[in-house]
Amino acid sequence: MRRLNRIISFDPETRELVCEPGVTFHKLLREYLPQGYCVPVSPGTGFATVGGAIANDVHGKNHDVAGSFGRHVVWIDLLLPTGEQRRISRQRYADLFRATIGGAGLTGIILAACIRMSRREVNAVRVRERRIASLEDFFTAFEQARADGVGYSVGWIDAMARGAQLGRGILELAEPAAESLDEPAPRRLRVPVDMPDFVLNPVSIGVFNTLYFHRIPREGREKTVLLERFLYPLDTLLEWNRIYGRRGFYQFQCVLPNEAGISGIRRLLERIVRSRAASFLAVLKTLGGEGEGYLSFPQRGYTLALDFPCKAGTGELLGSLESITRDHGGRVYLAKDACLSPEGFAAMYPKLDLFRAVLHDIDTESRMHSDLARRLRIR
Ligand SMILES: Cc1cc2nc3c(=O)[nH]c(=O)nc-3n(C[C@H](O)[C@H](O)[C@H](O)COP(=O)(O)OP(=O)(O)OC[C@H]3O[C@@H](n4cnc5c(N)ncnc54)[C@H](O)[C@@H]3O)c2cc1C
Repeated sequence: MRRLNRIISFDPETRELVCEPGVTFHKLLREYLPQGYCVPVSPGTGFATVGGAIANDVHGKNHDVAGSFGRHVVWIDLLLPTGEQRRISRQRYADLFRATIGGAGLTGIILAACIRMSRREVNAVRVRERRIASLEDFFTAFEQARADGVGYSVGWIDAMARGAQLGRGILELAEPAAESLDEPAPRRLRVPVDMPDFVLNPVSIGVFNTLYFHRIPREGREKTVLLERFLYPLDTLLEWNRIYGRRGFYQFQCVLPNEAGISGIRRLLERIVRSRAASFLAVLKTLGGEGEGYLSFPQRGYTLALDFPCKAGTGELLGSLESITRDHGGRVYLAKDACLSPEGFAAMYPKLDLFRAVLHDIDTESRMHSDLARRLRIR
């Protein structure tokens, strides 16, 4: 859908932007930030498109204050599997609207969408970074950030640290900066080759994580960076996936409700640390509440995302993480999933029947399909 990439209109009074689904977050940021507007919710890569953001009801580092992407969608022009075209919204075809937000593309093709942008006077954020010594300290710091209404918060976790250091990492809190930065957009480098498999091993990842953790001085530090750099740190390294070699990697992301809190995340981390399989990319964030979509991922709680290089035992590890997530009333994020079981999926997404009822109405011949839908037996 990337070739449907035109911005159709923008009304500064209502802040309503109408665009085709292939428009990327990079394009929206570069076009509208200089005019004082911004997409209110953005995932961790600017290469994602508006269509993809709706279909996974994506969340950003500001979920506690802004919710997920679907909250800011005013209407969607949808091409149904029958060929009929409908404009759907909270007022018209509300069920279909809620099935399309986070609906993994299964309700039809999004042809255009109207999104309400937010005001943003400056192009930069003031970031406070500090070391966090343990999982308990992370939870205390995140809850404090929530109570203070901090705009953006995200934690990097050293998923190799064990014992008293389990869950140690770096917390980043950010707010809009006082002034814009006069700086060009970040430069991009490219990983030129697939790395040999032996490069990423528990020792090399452990060394990397230790150095990365200590890069922040004990007393913490503050810096002002371009919003683009803060939102999309990985986008400056093109084809970063090649670091995992030819066999690639799996990503796992789950959310656990606040009540499951620290004990649930601790169990996940203990299992991951025991496997010694994790990479250097492990992220902990807070989510503020449920999304509007029947299959929206967020719930109020903590979300943990990690990459695991593909190797023997990774499938088994992912199975254990699914069980722990399920036991704690959490759910796995479909956008990042390749291994979830159909039983686990049905238990984690309680509005699945409502979603299925909509598909039953609009797609009687079961035309819309995907590998994900088949594996999870969504239909
Ligand atoms: C580095 C990185 C960081 C990420 N960080 C986050 C994050 O912080 N938060 C988060 O929530 N997600 C995150 N993601 C996941 C990403 O935001 C989602 O997977 C998103 O849906 C990708 O959008 P895409 O445009 O690349 O779509 P694709 O990956 O091509 O498709 C994703 C889904 O959207 C559907 N779709 C796409 N276009 C249309 C259309 N026109 N009509 C109907 N359905 C359509 C597809 O069928 C598919 O189900 C991250 C991904 C990466 C690679």
